[in-house]
Amino acid sequence: MRDMAGGPRVLLKRLRELMQEPLEPQERLDRIVRDIASNMVAEVCSLYVLRADSVLELYATEGLNPNAVHLAQLRLGQGLVGTIAASARPLNLSNAQEHPAFAYLPETGEEIYHSFLGVPVLRAGRTLGVLVVQNKTMRQYREDEIEALETTAMVIAEMIATGDLARLTRPGLELDLSRPASFTGLSFNEGVGLGHVVLHEPRIVVTNLFNEDSEEEVRRLDRSLGSLRLSIDDMLERRDVAFEGEHREVLEAYRMFANDRGWVRRLEEAIRNGLTAEAAVEKVQSDMRARMFHMTDPYLRERMSDFDDLANRLLRQLMGRGPEDVAASLPKDAIIVARSMGAAELLDYPRDKLRGLVLEDGTATSHVVIVARAMGIPVAGQVKGAVSMAENGDAIIVDGDEGSIHLRPQSDLEAAYAEKVRFRARRQEVYRELRKKPSVTKDGVPVDLLMNAGLAVDLPQLSESGAAGIGLFRTELQFMVASTFPRAEAQERLYRDVLDAARGKPVTFRTIDIGGDKVLPYFKGVVQEENPALGWRAIRLTLDRPGLLRTQIRALLKACGGRELKLMLPMVTELSEIAQAREIIDREVRHLSRFAHHLPTSLKLGAMLEVPSLLFQLDELMKAVDFVSVGSNDLFQFIMAVDRGNTQLADRFDTLSAPFLRALKQIADAGARNHTPVTLCGELAGKPISAMALIGLGFRSISMSPASIGPVKAMLTELPLQELEAFFKDNLMAPAQGTPMRALLQAFADDRSIPL
Ligand code: PEP
Ligand code: MG
Repeated sequence: MRDMAGGPRVLLKRLRELMQEPLEPQERLDRIVRDIASNMVAEVCSLYVLRADSVLELYATEGLNPNAVHLAQLRLGQGLVGTIAASARPLNLSNAQEHPAFAYLPETGEEIYHSFLGVPVLRAGRTLGVLVVQNKTMRQYREDEIEALETTAMVIAEMIATGDLARLTRPGLELDLSRPASFTGLSFNEGVGLGHVVLHEPRIVVTNLFNEDSEEEVRRLDRSLGSLRLSIDDMLERRDVAFEGEHREVLEAYRMFANDRGWVRRLEEAIRNGLTAEAAVEKVQSDMRARMFHMTDPYLRERMSDFDDLANRLLRQLMGRGPEDVAASLPKDAIIVARSMGAAELLDYPRDKLRGLVLEDGTATSHVVIVARAMGIPVAGQVKGAVSMAENGDAIIVDGDEGSIHLRPQSDLEAAYAEKVRFRARRQEVYRELRKKPSVTKDGVPVDLLMNAGLAVDLPQLSESGAAGIGLFRTELQFMVASTFPRAEAQERLYRDVLDAARGKPVTFRTIDIGGDKVLPYFKGVVQEENPALGWRAIRLTLDRPGLLRTQIRALLKACGGRELKLMLPMVTELSEIAQAREIIDREVRHLSRFAHHLPTSLKLGAMLEVPSLLFQLDELMKAVDFVSVGSNDLFQFIMAVDRGNTQLADRFDTLSAPFLRALKQIADAGARNHTPVTLCGELAGKPISAMALIGLGFRSISMSPASIGPVKAMLTELPLQELEAFFKDNLMAPAQGTPMRALLQAFADDRSIPL
């Protein structure tokens, strides 16, 4: 194995001298690549720079054909170099030709080199180019070599950013990345946002790379780490944070990481190699990101992104800037563009200025996306290349419906989207007006329109949407955004906040519904299941882990002291499960009263009707509980045997088909017969046409996402219920006539000008 001639410290010293010499830019670049090659004992060192037209151009090389300089080109995402630029992550390969992305450029003559190490040239999170070393032998580059190359890349980034290379650029191929560009990813949350780019990571630009005195820098780092730890402790002690619950969980994880010895040791090592404290943080952060990229365990990935978040906070400390400055300088129509992001970081931005979120990574279930959805902002995810091509202040459109973004859009596109946004706003205005009107049908029958929620960030929607209460509070969301099981106090605090925000409006808490598609990465008790939807989930899981259920019930009982507690159990299959849960609840009530706790004024226990077995014991079910809530998402999945998450089957079976509606009618009838209140809280409640059907079948209470309340109420106030009941009498039990129920219902509404 070859060794580095001098190591990173020597290379850094050499680069520093080169930067100070009065050289022409090309000459300086040529010398830099030559020095890197010799320092790293590599046959090749090349620099590619990203142009405004998303093309990476070879700007300097040692070892490849010198005539290829300024001629060899790769598109962003093309070949190894393009892949590194698009992902902003290093590639370390012992045999480059075997990599699926390898693209051969004949003009460079590079086929004789096997091993390949490429790192992105990043400045404050934005890709400006790619720096590569290559060797003939097959070898894996070591960690210290990757570090040396990354450090060099930081110096080159500085040259590009200060305009040092502008004179090497041909007219028309600027590096200033100012052209319109569109990218498509995935839709993580619907809606359209028009605004201006706020790059999440480049909030801090590190320009001072080389330190004068390593020991003094280590001391400076220590001081900043100390303040960072204090500020986290401080935030944890404050109780006025708007997003108390989930914010707290994340902060507690940060406190742990801020004391992580491994992290601190790596930072100190980078400083001792010659970097300033800021540059060291940026450097270690890049390493973390690279590691994160290769990680498949969702729990570890989420933890790594917490570290990333923490590093940003530390940078702000070192450079004497607080989150307040970010908030103050934020445009009023901010669209946050980030590679990845922690949930707490999104919560740092003021909600009233956020118009959208763009992520290069992330999944629909990542914590930050769950929070963004709760905040009601459009999100496009997996938008590769967004960070590299966006600049702070650029005009941008996020199309959350399509999962796409348009950077620096042309005026006609912007006008089309602006019209779409205005149209939505006008409709919102109509819905706002409706809030003041009573929630009754045209013929005066009251129907409760409730909202679904699950995080503290949902709560402002309660008054904004005009919902009559919370019909489903999904308590598992607090568990899903946390890094470890939320402690009893954290659970109690959230439940108390929910009730306080509800100001006397009813709230129905559902005990944690995990398992199935809702995974807690830190819950090690879960085994891989062949059919997780039919597996160990919801009430099945919590009855087997009574400690979990007990803690939650105790937290709920305490939080509801002096108020009513409405509690429901998810995925009930047999009535015995209700009896077992009731026993646990009774025991907790006895326990708390023994210690003279303030208990709820009344306790109502309900079951969710999601499993078809309950359809065949409806009267017994109605007698066994205080209320029933139909989980139509799961009930439909199980009645029709169709996976609710399978996009291929999403439109195949109709939720308004007669058999499913007949089942719903039986439930509503059984409720009425037994004087047991029945509600429905699945997605079905949120679409005006299906909400109309539900009301016609006898439901007088339905719960939906807050954004649906307006459209459903607009339908409700125009609905002549008696006519709809007569319609169902004629059509629901009649043998199928060929016209689907959905079409009949649509015609019913059209004939009466009911807005759907
Ligand atoms: C449902 O299944 O309809 C429901 C409301 O529960 P979830 O969507 O949380 O499974
Ligand atoms: Mg369900």
